[in-house]
Amino acid sequence: MKIIPISLPTPFYIGPVNVYLIAEDPVTLIDTGPKTKAANDALHEGLRKARIRVSDIRRIVLTHAHEDHCGLARSVRDEAKDAEVLVHAWETGHRIGRLEYEEHRTLLVRAGVPPDEIETMRKMYEGVRQYADSFETDEYSELRDEAELEFETGTLRIVHTPGHTPGSCSFVREADRTVIAGDCVLKRITPNPVLSPDPIDPSKRFASLAEYLVSLARLRSFAPTLVHGGHGEPVHDFEELFNRYFRAIRDRQAEVIRLLPKTGAAAWEIAREMFPGADDVHRFLAVSEAVAHLDLAHSEGKIEVEFGDSKEVYRPISAN
Ligand SMILES: [Zn+2]
Ligand SMILES: [Zn+2]
Repeated sequence: MKIIPISLPTPFYIGPVNVYLIAEDPVTLIDTGPKTKAANDALHEGLRKARIRVSDIRRIVLTHAHEDHCGLARSVRDEAKDAEVLVHAWETGHRIGRLEYEEHRTLLVRAGVPPDEIETMRKMYEGVRQYADSFETDEYSELRDEAELEFETGTLRIVHTPGHTPGSCSFVREADRTVIAGDCVLKRITPNPVLSPDPIDPSKRFASLAEYLVSLARLRSFAPTLVHGGHGEPVHDFEELFNRYFRAIRDRQAEVIRLLPKTGAAAWEIAREMFPGADDVHRFLAVSEAVAHLDLAHSEGKIEVEFGDSKEVYRPISAN
């Protein structure tokens, strides 16, 4: 069972996205690339080189529902004459290219993001949304943790690895400990735990960083020899990367705590201090990162949080 990576261009800052073809029965594509002509052309070219026609594809599996990964899912499915589309049920907050504005707005207000900034972020969502088609709930099947995707000559185990998004999934070939990890594992950058509503209770915020740490530990338990990420080159030394991520997360947490004034601050203020030069999409990612680290520090009893005046104010633990 051969896993064939295909690199596709994206209009996003992150650069090209990796999708993965398994060219045996049932022919399966893991992620599809964004809905652009350039990505669609590159996908067709990649499939042609692997001697596969789009019409051969029977199964489209999504690591998560960000536009750069799921954008072409509908058009591939239609061209493949109703291939099955599979995604984890917790990808609700990003439901296949449809962002839940109202739920996000509430989370951004609570993080202390000013109204004009929220408006800018909303326009940015609108801009990103064109790169993916939406799906209705009855148009896809659910990826279930621990279930297996079977192929002619092997299987991939589905491992739910929330963090980057609530419904992010990885796929493990246990025979040789190869993992396809979407944006859960990226070689050159620490993946962003993106601010998301909790899939079970959308009025709450998803504990993205705490979940992410558990997901990383879970992937580590497979002792991966090779990890195919959603962007960049494959990772051959997962253990080294795992330790690097942990150090980066601890360092960032220490920085966030250091930046907290005694009088307290909202996540937005900390984000602006951490990333003063951030513009457009990066302001959203910056506030996501600040919230994620503040939430984790709070859950570990290292800082206090108080809900007042529509936003949450974080404080260092007061010395008694
Ligand atoms: Zn992503
Ligand atoms: Zn991505």
